[in-house]
Amino acid sequence: MIVGGGLGFWARTVNGLSFGLGIGLAVAAMVWLVIDSFFINRLLRWLRTEQNKDAPAVMASSAPSMPGVWGEVADRTRRLLKNRDQQLQESQARLDEFLAAMQASPSGVVLLDAQGRIEWCNQMATQHFGFDAQRDVLQHIANLVREPAFKAYMAAGDFSHDVVIPGNFSTPARPVKLSVHVHSYGKNRKLVLSRDITAVELAEAMRRDFVANVSHEIRTPLTVLSGFIETLQTLPLKEPERARYLSLMAQQSQRMQTLVNDLLTLSRLEGSPFPGANDWTTLSALLAQCEQEARALSGVIAPQGHRLEFDPGPACEIAGVQTELYSAMSNLVTNAVRYTPEGGLVRVSWTLRDDGRGEFKVRDTGPGIAPEHLPRLTERFYRIDRSRSRETGGTGLGLAIVKHVAQRHGAELNIKSEIGQGSCFSIIFPATRVRRIQVAQIVQAA
Ligand code: ADP
Repeated sequence: MIVGGGLGFWARTVNGLSFGLGIGLAVAAMVWLVIDSFFINRLLRWLRTEQNKDAPAVMASSAPSMPGVWGEVADRTRRLLKNRDQQLQESQARLDEFLAAMQASPSGVVLLDAQGRIEWCNQMATQHFGFDAQRDVLQHIANLVREPAFKAYMAAGDFSHDVVIPGNFSTPARPVKLSVHVHSYGKNRKLVLSRDITAVELAEAMRRDFVANVSHEIRTPLTVLSGFIETLQTLPLKEPERARYLSLMAQQSQRMQTLVNDLLTLSRLEGSPFPGANDWTTLSALLAQCEQEARALSGVIAPQGHRLEFDPGPACEIAGVQTELYSAMSNLVTNAVRYTPEGGLVRVSWTLRDDGRGEFKVRDTGPGIAPEHLPRLTERFYRIDRSRSRETGGTGLGLAIVKHVAQRHGAELNIKSEIGQGSCFSIIFPATRVRRIQVAQIVQAA
């Protein structure tokens, strides 16, 4: 304006006032226009760079400083952008948290669009189905999960229940089972949830087997018992016959009692808290009890008996539950007596290892066990020789009890055996549960 006024003043002296004023206003307008264009350009340049920047919130604060109305426009635009950036950042943070929560889910999560194409999936889903979280985006799920049961499930469109299919890497030797459930949401979108139910299915199969085994084990003596009862009720038997039947009945009921006792022992082992590390039991007392039981059993099942050797080793105490420890040790000792033919040798020993661990070992000269049976011996009701087990009062639960007791006491159960070479069962207790004692202490305890 000053320049325009100056020019107007100069022009007045040359051509008159009106011409000078016109020139002045024109120059002023041009100068105004130039300045405005300059500011608009600056503002536009800033807005363009804003649009192209990755970290908008940081950039939005650096708006160009301009005077007057352009300054206000720039300032308001900057504030608007800052608000938008803040909202974007908050939404992004919420989305990130939401996705992190879905990633942390123990279930596989897959989001499908209206066409059934994968939009997003979490890490667990990639493991369950063998997807690649990046590569398989926008792939149709039916092209990737080719299991017929899943295809039929998707095609039927009834998502009120789940479908069970083999998981990725499932093999006949190591089957993996997935429960897949689809939930519809939004506009025809779908949420696919997958869960690895291999362990649940296995537990269910084990439960079914267990119930079937228990029923079978109880039904056999019950059938025999009811047969004898019927005979006694209907036939006029002579006294010796009656006595023989009653003795057989007593045997069967004893068998059921032993089975129920073993079942109760197992359930107690599963349900009770872990044995304390400060309840000490004298080992020699446990060994003496085992020896007494082994000699009595040997006398009953083998007329010529067995050679039984007990080496109590150094005087020690074990920290744990006395009844459990006795149950485990006596199971190993009585098994050795039951499976070793008469005249055979059964050696029971206790030793302290250099590292402080204590080993309870039972060796026999029995028939030995083929290697394929060894990994399964501690399964409930697993028997190699069913009739020998029953004849000698076995329930098929003895070694399962031993394994449980060993685990609860932090001990290891080792089994070594070869056909024709006898067997060696040992429980190795950790040093923390074993301590040496003076013989005088044993006498006092007795
Ligand atoms: P059971 O009551 O049938 O003896 P266990 O669980 O104690 O059940 O043992 C499982 C199976 O392991 C037995 O049926 C038997 O076939 C085998 N077994 C256990 N101990 C010995 C042993 N000392 N010698 C040979 N076989 C054994």
